[in-house]
Amino acid sequence: MSFKNSWKDECGVFGIWNHPEAAQLTYLGLYAIQHRGQESAGIVSLDTSASKQLQKIYKGLGLVPDVFNETILKNLTGSAAIGHVRYATTGDNLIANAQPLSSNLLSGPVALAHNGNIVNASILREALQREGAIFQGTNDTEILLHLLARNPSKHLMTALKESLQDLTGAYSLVILAHDRLIAARDPLGFRPLVLGQIKKSMSISYVVTSETCALDLIGATYVREIEPGEILEISSEGLISTKLPTAITVSPRKSAQCVFEHVYFSRPDSVVFGKSVYNSRKMFGEQLALESPVDADIVIPVPDSGVPSAIGYSQKSGIPFEFGIIRNHYIGRTFIQPGQSVRDIGVKIKLNPQPEVLKGKRVIVIDDSLVRGTTSQNIIRLIRQAGASEVHLRIASPPTTGPCYYGVDTPQKSQLIASHQSLEDIRQFIGADTLAYLSDAGMWKALKSGPETFCAACFNGDYPTSLKGVEIKKTQEFSPTKAY
Ligand code: AMP
Repeated sequence: MSFKNSWKDECGVFGIWNHPEAAQLTYLGLYAIQHRGQESAGIVSLDTSASKQLQKIYKGLGLVPDVFNETILKNLTGSAAIGHVRYATTGDNLIANAQPLSSNLLSGPVALAHNGNIVNASILREALQREGAIFQGTNDTEILLHLLARNPSKHLMTALKESLQDLTGAYSLVILAHDRLIAARDPLGFRPLVLGQIKKSMSISYVVTSETCALDLIGATYVREIEPGEILEISSEGLISTKLPTAITVSPRKSAQCVFEHVYFSRPDSVVFGKSVYNSRKMFGEQLALESPVDADIVIPVPDSGVPSAIGYSQKSGIPFEFGIIRNHYIGRTFIQPGQSVRDIGVKIKLNPQPEVLKGKRVIVIDDSLVRGTTSQNIIRLIRQAGASEVHLRIASPPTTGPCYYGVDTPQKSQLIASHQSLEDIRQFIGADTLAYLSDAGMWKALKSGPETFCAACFNGDYPTSLKGVEIKKTQEFSPTKAY
């Protein structure tokens, strides 16, 4: 049984402007954000040395180091490039869906890389198909390419600003045109997107990417986030920032940044939405220790995503931290393997409990989230087999009760155990002596923020946009351009 719906994409994006090794740095950047998608990778470079600016593209299915090699990267010449990593759905990991997507528009060649999900994608796709558009793949990003192509404006920026207004949902975009790199984030800023720079004597290279860990790797310094609703143009003339009109929201809010990026999805060494992910997770653990203490001998994480929260729990409770489960790092995240049977086997090959640590111990196990409950059930069984006398599960986020429509791969509601079972039912199902989740209030306290800034629909059901989708519209004006 597939865990995925066809419109769900977890992705990472990267773009660089004005660097002699643009493709090589894009490769490294994608390597750093590989956790955001493991099924396809691609790079488009822009070679402006030729009389006609040339876009060169290479993409393939698989992990970044499997898709690219030195020869391929050498052929991706030019001083600007964008790249993409994608996790696709079962039966959907077609090369046609691999990004960046590129095309020749009236305004010239353009390539797009997108992270997020467009809620009104099926409505837009159908409308475009009725007008004669032919789609190569099934991803949302192709819709934007068609919207750009059918826009009568010869100016990419005008076409882009108008086309983005047709989209409802989540998009963090990097776009490479013949004369500029563009970064754009939807008006609610669901998915992360940051700006960095590399300064060398007189020249500055600009970088835009999903997470700051990619900046760290290539020696770029973090400048700021691309703001929700911002379109940032980077060209030889410098940086120009424009704002999209405010989103059509169900409830008025400043932004809807995805809280699950802090719970699970982002790397802990990234700064996401202006906050250290490591710190957020540690604070979730501290808060959990205050809310749900239990007498025990050791605190152990489910590696790797539970580690910072387990450290927080241990430090706050004074109960020693141990690595009671060792992870095999040479297989992917089991959750990311398609198909239920494969995933169950995955838990066993991935995580090995250590009897030396666990035997006769009362153990507190910390995981970042509990979705369907099968991972916890398997882990608890293995911990008991290794000789633990008691197993207390603590989850460093609230119960996951709703699917995500904005780009995190959560299963449909019927598969989310907390959407239809009580705490006691879940405890029995997973086989723990006690079970507790972080409270909603505790999560906000740890983040020093709240639902007016973050989207936590997977935990509280408060979806920040219409879910029905919105028809193509062309009405709103843009705020004046500000240069800096
Ligand atoms: P389960 O409860 O068996 O469905 O899986 C929960 C586990 O999956 C937790 O250990 C999380 O670390 C992990 N997890 C939660 N959400 C995701 C996601 N969107 N993609 C991959 N892994 C996830």
